[in-house]
Amino acid sequence: MGDELSSLNDIEQTDKRHVFGTWSFQSEVSPTQVVGGDGARFTTADGEEYIDFSGQLMCSNLGHSADGVADAIAEQAREGAYFAPGFTTEARARLGEKLADVTPGALTKTFFSTSGTEAVEAAIKIARFYTGKQKIISRYRSYHGATAGSISVTGDPRRLPAEPSVPGAIKAPDPYAYGSTLEPMESLEYIDEMLELEGDTVAAVLVEPIVGSNGILVPPEEYLPELKRIAHDHGALLICDEVMSGFGRTGEWFGSDVFDVTPDIMTMAKGLTGAYAPLGATIVTPEIADHFEDEMFCHGHTYAGHPVACAAGLAAVETYEEENLIERASEIGDILGERLAELAADHPSVGEARGVGLFRGLELTRSADERVPFGKRADKISTGTTVVDEVAARARDHGVYVANMINTLIIAPPLVLTEADLDRGIEALDAALEHSDAQMEG
Ligand code: PLP
Repeated sequence: MGDELSSLNDIEQTDKRHVFGTWSFQSEVSPTQVVGGDGARFTTADGEEYIDFSGQLMCSNLGHSADGVADAIAEQAREGAYFAPGFTTEARARLGEKLADVTPGALTKTFFSTSGTEAVEAAIKIARFYTGKQKIISRYRSYHGATAGSISVTGDPRRLPAEPSVPGAIKAPDPYAYGSTLEPMESLEYIDEMLELEGDTVAAVLVEPIVGSNGILVPPEEYLPELKRIAHDHGALLICDEVMSGFGRTGEWFGSDVFDVTPDIMTMAKGLTGAYAPLGATIVTPEIADHFEDEMFCHGHTYAGHPVACAAGLAAVETYEEENLIERASEIGDILGERLAELAADHPSVGEARGVGLFRGLELTRSADERVPFGKRADKISTGTTVVDEVAARARDHGVYVANMINTLIIAPPLVLTEADLDRGIEALDAALEHSDAQMEG
């Protein structure tokens, strides 16, 4: 480990020795110490400032200096940091009420956990308890979490080392016009047929309304309403996983709002607190909530409804409202969309620019005609770097942090991004994409 450590400062070396890097071969982990942030920028220990073009893990929707949320956390920690879930606090009750208000339709009652993973685990259990059925249909290009149940319903390659999955987790194709052999609406017919062939045994169909880490896949307008109809026709619920697509990311409160759909169960995390505290939430319709009046809600955690996390959530939702951040995301998101389309036109290695609001992706290609990817699904669980990793590293050399997953650069900045920082971000991507252009075939 000696040579690899020499470029790291003392804290980074200590971290590398004693803390696991996530989803990584540990020999390849190289942690960077961050010392602060302001708006859509953050600063590392070596004094470099970066524009956060991915809101860290597509979660820092409020940027890095939302003082209202920080104050709410400090106040709650002083007043009473923790009480068991059998007690309540004003923050928990008011946040439950707020979520019933900002989520679509009549969604009304929430279970609070501490992560997106746990929000999905709760959704799976609730769907199974409510319907009395076991199977969950989810899609191949999806990420729903890291624990046994949520990784089983995850389609992306991170699932593979964790298999065999829990029983009843079935995968369907995705609405992915650029890279799938099926047209998006054909993939929906496929799900219809799966539901028919599975008989009356499917509890729920679970989807990200707009797929996040698996490449920012936006389905056609009619896809999600049709999916809900198909699921209901077969006695299955629709679960929308809004962990990444929620809280203004799409220019609407939720990805489901983009398609005017109210799911039966919705999961949230990330932007729920603007990433100021770990909080997950699973909200359900009144019918599902009523079911548990006389049936046991057989689920819970020590930190369910943690007062500090709920105080952060309440302050975050109030910040989205008071600062009109959802509308802002829509407006600046349109500008971002135009600028990314220009990049796609200028750089032959950008196969497709897609997305909505501040939830966008650039899919790269080695060969524009053949749509050959630089990064393959298997690379996600292999050692070494891909050309897409190298493009992201070059953007960082130009002062912009951008996340990349498999073959797509994911552009999901804080909703407080200024136009000047947007311009700087685009300039850095413009420079970095010269690298992938140079690696193309022919
Ligand atoms: N669901 C979706 C759609 C996600 O994007 C993620 C994380 O990226 C999760 C669930 C898991 O959330 P967490 O990492 O907070 O456990």
